[in-house]
Amino acid sequence: MFAEMKNTRTSELHLWSDEDTGLQAVIAIHDANRGPALGGCRLFSYKSSDDAIRDAIRLAQGMSYKAALAGVEQGGGKAVIMAPREIHNREALFKAFGRFVHSLGGRYITAMDVGTQTQDMDTIASITPHVSCTSQTGDPAPYTALGVFNSIKAALDASPDLSGDITNKRIAVQGLGNVGFALCEMLSNAGAELIVSDIDPAKVVQCEELFSARSVPPSTILSVECDIFSPCGMGGILQTDTVKELHCNAIVGSANNQLATPEAGLALHRQGILYAPDFLVNAGGLIHASLSHRGRPAQEINERIHDIGATLAKIFQRHRTSGEPVSLIADRMAENSLYGPELLQRSA
Ligand code: NAD
Repeated sequence: MFAEMKNTRTSELHLWSDEDTGLQAVIAIHDANRGPALGGCRLFSYKSSDDAIRDAIRLAQGMSYKAALAGVEQGGGKAVIMAPREIHNREALFKAFGRFVHSLGGRYITAMDVGTQTQDMDTIASITPHVSCTSQTGDPAPYTALGVFNSIKAALDASPDLSGDITNKRIAVQGLGNVGFALCEMLSNAGAELIVSDIDPAKVVQCEELFSARSVPPSTILSVECDIFSPCGMGGILQTDTVKELHCNAIVGSANNQLATPEAGLALHRQGILYAPDFLVNAGGLIHASLSHRGRPAQEINERIHDIGATLAKIFQRHRTSGEPVSLIADRMAENSLYGPELLQRSA
């Protein structure tokens, strides 16, 4: 675990076990130099505690990169709760988690993530002020979807084979949960042609009925012919071998850690597919969680989310002039902002 921390430059790892409620949780703080570490709390059924710790470390690093590229004065952190086989008392579980967060004295601010809801954040807020995405500040998913929507527009503008308008563009959305569904609504209103997929058939039917979407089985969404592929389900879906199956011009989606390995980013580059880095595209939720926690007005939040498209356009421009893979340019921009060019050169 120390090697994992060293490789990712993670500064703190905290574990908490509560016998009364069965809570077993991990908080990873990747970097708190830019401000208190902010990142969601994931409730997930992990195979082992090693898997949970590794996930917390990886996700916390992603949050640091996300905050750095989005220009948010927040460090990167993440919490994971190992989902018990059965949750007997959800309120007690999240109160115990609230005590864990509070014990860190504000160095980590928690928020919603996969498996948690605004109600859970309200429970945590009864124990500690270091929480965002409560029912007062709201669900970050629509803000994340707005950032993805703006990024799709930036990708269309940058793609040589597509004209800049969303109307009639074929957009394939994988995962129709909180973000995917809100995104489909925005795309449908803008006149896009939707191709959708989810492992939950009820969500698929809803999108077919509401947005006249065409659906395909989960096993074929990756290879469907489209202009933009938008992964909004789970991460790790882009591997060097699966990349060969893609038939799209660009990839722009909300899922965290879409590239299973850095090599997958290089494979996309070789195949001429424009990849919009996930940690920039999906920063809308973080911008909302951070700014609403600081009591900033809605207009400022919306303006900052619109800036995601402008930052992406800048990265695509660098990609066109240098010929370098987009994934490398985005990583370097985030690392420059986190560590400064000097430290990067020393460790290279
Ligand atoms: P969610 O749990 O509400 O939705 C995920 C959806 O993906 C579910 O409907 C699920 O059935 C579906 N799914 C899972 N595996 C699938 C598969 N193999 N094929 C098709 N569908 C599949 O989650 P969400 O909040 O919508 O987040 C979606 C993704 O975006 C996640 O990776 C999350 O980490 C990331 N993200 C979310 C936010 C946010 O604000 N919610 C912010 C940043 C990043």
